Amino acid sequence: MYFAVRQILNSKLKTKNSKLVAALLDWFAANARDLPWRRTRDPYAIWVSEIMLQQTQVKTVIPFWNRWLRELPTIEAAAKAPSAKIHKLWEGLGYYTRVRNLQKAAQQIVAQQTSRRRRDDESQTKNELETRHLVSYKFPENFDDVLALPGIGRYTAGAICSIAFNQPTPILDGNVIRVLTRIFGIAENPKEKQTNARLWQLAEGLVRHADKVAQASCLRGQAGSLPYFKNSCSHLNQSLMELGALVCTPRNPQCPICPVKKLCVAFKENRVEELPNLGKRDAAMARHFIAFVIERDGKFLVQQRPAGIVNAHLWEFPNFETNGKKKDAKEIFDSAFNFKAAKFQPLCTIKHSITRYRITLEAFHVCFGGTSSTNPHSKKNKPGTRGTRPSENEIWKTPAQMGQLAFTAAHKKLASFAKNCILSDR
Ligand code: SF4
Repeated sequence: MYFAVRQILNSKLKTKNSKLVAALLDWFAANARDLPWRRTRDPYAIWVSEIMLQQTQVKTVIPFWNRWLRELPTIEAAAKAPSAKIHKLWEGLGYYTRVRNLQKAAQQIVAQQTSRRRRDDESQTKNELETRHLVSYKFPENFDDVLALPGIGRYTAGAICSIAFNQPTPILDGNVIRVLTRIFGIAENPKEKQTNARLWQLAEGLVRHADKVAQASCLRGQAGSLPYFKNSCSHLNQSLMELGALVCTPRNPQCPICPVKKLCVAFKENRVEELPNLGKRDAAMARHFIAFVIERDGKFLVQQRPAGIVNAHLWEFPNFETNGKKKDAKEIFDSAFNFKAAKFQPLCTIKHSITRYRITLEAFHVCFGGTSSTNPHSKKNKPGTRGTRPSENEIWKTPAQMGQLAFTAAHKKLASFAKNCILSDR
């Protein structure tokens, strides 16, 4: 009895998958956005796009992706680029661990393939060796090898293997979770282990079905020059992402024009607004910082954030977190610096959000009142206090020199204030 019921359910799921895959592929062929990484099959370029797209919108990523591929067009170039360069290319995208992991992974690929080539070289003729050294480094094609690279989780490995190599590897990110919970009417929280496993299974069922469907048409007006894949895994996974981004959006989904509305449980049962059930969100948390834009002869004091903390290696103006307590900026300044301010006045207030943090950065313009031999920092300002602190990486820079450094988003705005408001007033 149990097996009979399971067979019926499986067969119903197969029929539904088949209809869903057909509807999604047709819709995607006609509606896919013309994105630069959809014009290539280069797994390196697709990998870069997937890493940039984590937590970041498509329209923000496009110029960053174009610039990255122009400056570092190969895995080898990414592996060898100086740290300052990769951070500068990523400046403004945020979540900088992503770019450091991307470089680590590129270095790992190069190191592994170099040592493999060295081993093989011992058994090659001179001619074979010359040809072999012209071969560039290749992004791995095996799913487990991709998953083993730094910064690549199950979603990203699945996305790269399906999009670049057309393998039937499932994907499940926020967009796909929303689409699948609505289509299948899943009321449980997708973060729960069992529900999450079920969603992965559903995603796998769809992409496995697409593996048996021939790629019928190229994307409208854009992919004609690309080689056709035999099967449709790449387009199916991209169609799920695209539906989540364009139609099945978190707020005001466009159900009346949705290609799968006839198959969608949430739509049929009027539960669209309820799904996905993400439980309670973490409450937003306010954080307040005071920053000092300290100027001396047209140069500004900036510091590099140390390794191992958020936004590591990026540059910023000296700043201090007030831990929610009302603190006097001048008092903070006097205890942190070793010189008198020739001028001390409010410059601007910048508000921005990172994940659940609502950050206010209150900035003050300070004119350096010491001599050229003055060490700007007071001994009272011990390293290790909350907020960033003086370090050997602290340095006086002109606005042009600051333009060469990668700053955190809020401090990049301060750098622009320093150049356009402070110096241009002279
Ligand atoms: Fe999403 Fe509405 Fe389409 Fe269902 S019908 S998949 S809820 S857009």
